[in-house]
Amino acid sequence: MVYKGKCMCGSVNLEVDGDAMAMMVCHCKICRSWSASPVCGATLFKPDQLKITKGKELIDQFSLSDGHDRKWCTKCGGHLFTDHRNTYGVIDVYSSILESFEFKPTAHINYESTILPIKDGLPKFKDFPKDFGGSGEILDE
Ligand SMILES: [Zn+2]
Ligand SMILES: [Zn+2]
Repeated sequence: MVYKGKCMCGSVNLEVDGDAMAMMVCHCKICRSWSASPVCGATLFKPDQLKITKGKELIDQFSLSDGHDRKWCTKCGGHLFTDHRNTYGVIDVYSSILESFEFKPTAHINYESTILPIKDGLPKFKDFPKDFGGSGEILDE
């Protein structure tokens, strides 16, 4: 399955080929200020699953820290994906910009920073799961 996505103005188009490796809801302050939203849907793909099909030259990035390159469209300001390939080996393509993509998170991360507690029965990691370099500690909903 190939999922097509685009920025708000449609100048940048992209595709991801195949299923996401992981889907999580992130509550961290950085995602919140970047997305201007109380939570952020992290959808992780391998770098080779992502293809920019239009408007590559319009993409700029902001990196608050090394290895977390947040990409956006310079025309509309719409956010596209965060390139974590040099830290976690993955790219987080925002599932909210992918057409017909079903966002089915399996966990919440950075829940210690939440401003929107969500009681959905999924595990609530204080920071990150152990395999992402976190403590693996689980918090109450
Ligand atoms: Zn745009
Ligand atoms: Zn985050």
